[in-house]
Amino acid sequence: AQSRYASLRDLPATGTCGETVQLYMNAGLMADLPSLEGSGAEGVGLFRTELQFLIRNHVPRRSELAALYRRVLDNAHEKPVMFRTLDIGSDKVLPYMKPQDEPNPAMGWRAIRVGLDKRGVLRMQLQALIRAAVGRPLHVMFPFVADITEYDAAYRILMQEVAREQRLGHDMPSDIRVGTMLETPSLAFAPKRFFEMCDFVSIGGNDLKQFFFAADRENERVRRRYDTLNSSFLMLLKQIVARCEDARVPLSFCGEDAGRPIEALTFAALGIRRLSMRPASIGPVKHLIRHVSITELAQVVDEALDSGMPNIRRPVTEWLARQ
Ligand code: PEP
Ligand code: MG
Repeated sequence: AQSRYASLRDLPATGTCGETVQLYMNAGLMADLPSLEGSGAEGVGLFRTELQFLIRNHVPRRSELAALYRRVLDNAHEKPVMFRTLDIGSDKVLPYMKPQDEPNPAMGWRAIRVGLDKRGVLRMQLQALIRAAVGRPLHVMFPFVADITEYDAAYRILMQEVAREQRLGHDMPSDIRVGTMLETPSLAFAPKRFFEMCDFVSIGGNDLKQFFFAADRENERVRRRYDTLNSSFLMLLKQIVARCEDARVPLSFCGEDAGRPIEALTFAALGIRRLSMRPASIGPVKHLIRHVSITELAQVVDEALDSGMPNIRRPVTEWLARQ
């Protein structure tokens, strides 16, 4: 599929209106990295670090992780890589972790909650990231933050590790940018200071949607029940866009929906101008964006939302059919 879009590789995702969307790719294994070149992605918008933990039968050592992250950055050349710290728990159970036997793992002890309660692994991972990025920019992103105090705590741990590395006389990254996933509706309503503290925010639409509609993303029976172009969900996205614009923090969307052309285009129309997706989706999404006016679609979307329709997929596809 990629070859069909190969001629687009080095072209920007610019609509006929002149507005541009930056397209990034999601990754997690070394094997994903060659796609960075081939897909024309601007960088890795989501690097799921837990995959490296899931394929081992022991906790990786710090030196092992640092070497691995260094290779990731080497392979990315100068392109940015947003490293998401461990998102374990829920559906991602490490073979060497005691099973928690929780009634509701998706809403249980997972991701940053584990990191903050058992700091050793998070600290070790942050040390590995800092060491891997010596002399170049480091982007760290925290998963599943539900509340400003969790972000504060995670941020503080990162700063402690930075201070520790400096104390030990180690060289440092040229710049450290810190951000978070927005995967719970609560975070969209966090105090303004939260957004001001972030260097970037990325919507984890898979989880955000599951918690917004209270519909399990793993449950076939309900997971397709609520469309992404449901007006209520888009109103939530609009709220997040407004809050990020207010605090001047760059916003991206890195859930699976970012790789679906109609959804991607609608997100762009709502003002989300960075999308991160599986590499094979970049060509089709770019192709569509380059053929339409994002600003014109923004009007269609706003009018449809104002009209009180429960779902705006129809006006969007009808507008697309006329292009
Ligand atoms: C998400 O929730 O949308 C996301 C990108 O994270 P994951 O799919 O790894 O939970
Ligand atoms: Mg998630």
